[in-house]
Parts: sequence; C-alpha cells; structure tokens
Amino acid sequence: MPEMPEVQAHAERLTESFAGRRLKAFRPLTFTALKTATPPPDQAYGLPLLQVGRRGKFLLVTFEPVTFVVHLMQGGRLLVDTKQSSKPRGGQARFLFEHRAGDPPGSDPPALLLTEQGTERRAGVWCLASASALTTLPLASLGPEADSIDAATLAARFTKMPNTRIHGFLRDQHAVAGIGRRLANEVCHRAEVSPFAMTRKLGIDGATAIVAAIQECVAEGLADERRRPDMSSSKERPSHVHGRAGQPCPVCGDTIRAVEYASYTVNYCPTCQTNGKLLADNTTSKFLK
Ligand SMILES: [Zn+2]
Repeated sequence: MPEMPEVQAHAERLTESFAGRRLKAFRPLTFTALKTATPPPDQAYGLPLLQVGRRGKFLLVTFEPVTFVVHLMQGGRLLVDTKQSSKPRGGQARFLFEHRAGDPPGSDPPALLLTEQGTERRAGVWCLASASALTTLPLASLGPEADSIDAATLAARFTKMPNTRIHGFLRDQHAVAGIGRRLANEVCHRAEVSPFAMTRKLGIDGATAIVAAIQECVAEGLADERRRPDMSSSKERPSHVHGRAGQPCPVCGDTIRAVEYASYTVNYCPTCQTNGKLLADNTTSKFLK
C-alpha cells in the first residue's frame, strides 16, 4: 500500500501535470467508486484544478468549491489515462479535463484514471465541499500528520489513547496519519524501539526517538519517490528491515526477524530493538499451548 512519501510525491507529480486544467467530467466506472451523494461532482465542471494535495494516505484533488478525496487503498492507482478505453482494466473512476492551449492538435483531452487491481475493490472517491473537506469523513477521523507531529504531542497521544503496541499505534490512521506497514517497521528500527513496546511505557524519550525516526524515514522515502516518474511498487521502496527477514541488519549485522500476521509482517532487529529477545505472536503462542 502506498504510504505518506509515495502519496505525497504522486500528489506533487499530478499537480505539476494537471494544475490549471479545467474539469470536463467525473465518471464513476463502478457502482461503488463514488462514496458520496452530495455535493454533486458537476459542481467542479468547467473549473480549474487548484492542486492535488495529500492528507494521510489520501489524495485531495482540489477545485473550488468541491474537493475529490481519493483513497488508493491496497492496489489503487491514480494515473494519467493515455488510452481512455471504455472498459479499462480495474477502472474505478475517471476525471476528464478540457483541452487547453498548447495541447497537441487532435489529441484526446487529458484524463486521470483511478484503477484498483486485485479483488478487494476498496479504493474510492469522496466528493466533498472544499471548505469543510478536512473536517468531513473520511478525513475528519485522521490523526495528526505523522511527519509534522512533535514529541510532546506524540507523548500526549501515547497517554490519552488506549495502551497498545507502538507498531499498531503507528499504523492506526486515527493515531497518526500517513504511516503503513513498511514505515511502521522502518520507524521502530530507526528509533531502536521494539515494535511490541507498549505506548504507555514509551514516555517523552520514546516519543522523541519515534518522532526523529519518522522524520528521517519519511524524508528518505520522499527523496527516493520524487526521483521516480510514477509511484513505486512496495518492493522498490527503501528499507533497512521491512521485507528483509533473514538478511543482516545494516546497522549491527544481526539477522532481521519476522513476526507474521494475516495481513502484515513485523520485521525487526533483535540487537537494535529488543536487547536480543525474539518476539513471538502471542495469539499464536497461546493457541499452540
Ligand atoms: Zn541491528
């Protein structure tokens, strides 16, 4: 799944290519693609795209007075639609733009296509009033942006929110927004914090280490992603521990370990993060007893 750096760099690319273009039409290609009934998308027709922004892992395709909030979920992409076929593979929705001066004569009007590969079909678009988009669901329930939170604010959230493992806290978009499975692994490793450390025990020192780690990991991811012509696949993204079980830790040389869950894997270095202790999935361990 794309996380904050991938979505941010993609928003920047789309802004560069499409800002100022006027929207001709918004066409859902499935019954589930458009998640809202009002305001209607046609309120943006004929109006110029102001920018493509980001909040958490959501793209914000912003016009005045409406903003299209796009969530890519697992396998979604919002791509320049060069073919504009009537039934694009995995097609969810299409933004059609008007021609403008400088477009090659005879070319199709430019378009963006939201696709989602796989069977989950959870990517979607919310059409919201721009003035209140950030305070309307799905954005209203998001926590603070992970890369701009300070240590005192994070420490306060550790105290106020339910006590949980830091790895789960980081992936919870209501706790902090923008971090997914890869960054949660990378941030814990960079901060030298066990992924299973309980948030109530981390305190201001833990929060300070986590904040510094988030900023480093996001900056590295963003620098890598901005060099690319399009959104990377998860295997291409920089990592020290994520997806590297069995390989040596680049910091200390110990073997990177994994705890497997149904929908994600926790990767960590015992020497850097747990004083050499091996972690186990408690639910599985209890079951085996
Ligand atoms: Zn290590």
